[in-house]
Amino acid sequence: MIYGYGRYNDEYMVGVIDADRDLFFPLKGIYKKRNTEAPKDMNELIDTYDDDLYAGIYDEIKKDNDLEKIPLRQINLLSPIPYPKRSVFCLGKNYKEHIQEMQKFTKTDDELKYPIYFSKMAYPCTGPDDIILRHANATSQLDYEAELVVIIGKRGINIRPEDVEGHIFGYTIGNDVSARDLQKRHNQWLKGKSLSTHCPIGPWIVYKSLIPFPVELDIKCFVNGELRQDSNTKHMIFDIPTQISILSQGIELVPGDIIMTGTPAGVGMGFDPPRFLQPKDKIECVIEKIGKLTNYVSE
Ligand code: MG
Repeated sequence: MIYGYGRYNDEYMVGVIDADRDLFFPLKGIYKKRNTEAPKDMNELIDTYDDDLYAGIYDEIKKDNDLEKIPLRQINLLSPIPYPKRSVFCLGKNYKEHIQEMQKFTKTDDELKYPIYFSKMAYPCTGPDDIILRHANATSQLDYEAELVVIIGKRGINIRPEDVEGHIFGYTIGNDVSARDLQKRHNQWLKGKSLSTHCPIGPWIVYKSLIPFPVELDIKCFVNGELRQDSNTKHMIFDIPTQISILSQGIELVPGDIIMTGTPAGVGMGFDPPRFLQPKDKIECVIEKIGKLTNYVSE
């Protein structure tokens, strides 16, 4: 199933999405039948999620008797988790060709022994079709990074690689928007990665049962319709079990945690000369079996 979070008639709601039929089933309709209160946001859903709940929701959708449903196009979809419980975890340099294209920018060994983790602050995460602010006063080197995003579903510390899938709730798409000049100037990446609106995530979360494991999905990024990034998540240097297992060594992961798994080659910085984002650029990050996340750079 696919879960989305959005606004409809000034009401915020979590729902099950059937994109093929252009339908959004608010969870409150399903929960009403179960005589329980619906989760008010995605974090609350993930916190209470288990296989029984999944089966119950699935059955109701399948029956689809008198369930409330809204045309999906009438929902103003927001980022599925606009307010993460804590900072977003990110992987740096997790595709070999991306390391090579960034060599001129920061020296990194071709053969990384350990994953590079960093953090990105997002409060809120930007939603689908929303604006990415240029912040021209702060940066002149704005860049895009299409990434597969993992949402954690089950609490855990020191998770073994073979147990990682059991700790995942689902998957979505992210754009790790980056101010390259700030990344370089301040040495540490936090500021260059955390300008306001620079963490678009969405358009929805695809529950893990719809994505075969290991996760091997085509990932692409288009800028104004031009294909810039074109790879597959199977080319990650540290695959999902490895990167999450190592991250969880000594760090407890909690339901709702967001992990951006790194970007493939083709970012603006990698071109010669670099092709940074410009006012009004349209950026589309596309991942097979998940969908498309579109955002626009401000004027
Ligand atoms: Mg990134």
